[in-house]
Amino acid sequence: MIIRKTLKGLRTQIEHARKNGKSIGFTPTLGALHAGHVSLIDRTVSENDISICSIFVNPTQFNEKTDLAKYPRTFEKDSKLLKKANLDILFFPSVNQVYPKNLDTGVDVDLGGLDLQMEGAFRPGHFEGVVQVVKRLLDMVTPDRLYMGQKDFQQFTIIQRMIDELKIKTELVVCPIVREPHGLAMSSRNERLSKETRKKAGKIYQVLTEIKENFRDKTPDEWSNWAMKKLKRRPLNPEYISFADGHTLKPIKSFNRHKYVVVCAAVWADDVRLIDNVIIKKH
Ligand code: AMP
Repeated sequence: MIIRKTLKGLRTQIEHARKNGKSIGFTPTLGALHAGHVSLIDRTVSENDISICSIFVNPTQFNEKTDLAKYPRTFEKDSKLLKKANLDILFFPSVNQVYPKNLDTGVDVDLGGLDLQMEGAFRPGHFEGVVQVVKRLLDMVTPDRLYMGQKDFQQFTIIQRMIDELKIKTELVVCPIVREPHGLAMSSRNERLSKETRKKAGKIYQVLTEIKENFRDKTPDEWSNWAMKKLKRRPLNPEYISFADGHTLKPIKSFNRHKYVVVCAAVWADDVRLIDNVIIKKH
């Protein structure tokens, strides 16, 4: 595995690969890697000639400065994991490499309101930062395929929209959510939970699964109230449980009128904010 910290070094590798007609797969991450990330890397490695992963804690997507400061940074462990997964190139740039002072990295794209719902409503500016960093990384890496997780449902939906709107020649591949044994969606933030809270947070997935299995029994609003009550038990405290149309991400009032429905949750567990989702139906 080759580690590159500058765009210049990365470009040399990419140009070499391109000259030899090789396909490039890319997985962007914030680091503090776990089995969820590894599942994306495995797909990137198996489906492309050259696999690239970036580790970059993007400051522009953190709406809370304390969240950015507390974000785990475990580069040595991460690079060992990536090497073991047979990754070809690890891109580990500094903030100056990604956002050089003389470059306007703002992205002007119509997201059709996808960024205003759910996470967008609770984390102002978050998706602007995500779009900015993913666009910049795509410009730097120029991959044939981009790998992202279903875990961040709204994120991959917005990135697909950006790719379509800007006619970027990269295919987005969405990978399933990898979970801990008791159901909690894997996340770098889980490391900050006590063992007990981590186990109790498995309740989030239990509740979402129960909804999926019985969704015809209640309306989306009724399910939402039911789930909020179920999850409002210490150390958990739900911020929202939203039923959305999978295409528009707008809240839905009835299951019948939509072909693609997802339930998304944001739940505090002690002082850690967790998100999860389950696709209720997709035709
Ligand atoms: P992050 O480092 O949290 O920005 O995540 C990098 C990528 O890994 C994103 O596309 C996430 O959606 C994906 N990811 C994070 N956690 C999981 C998980 N538990 N299962 C599958 N993909 C995940």
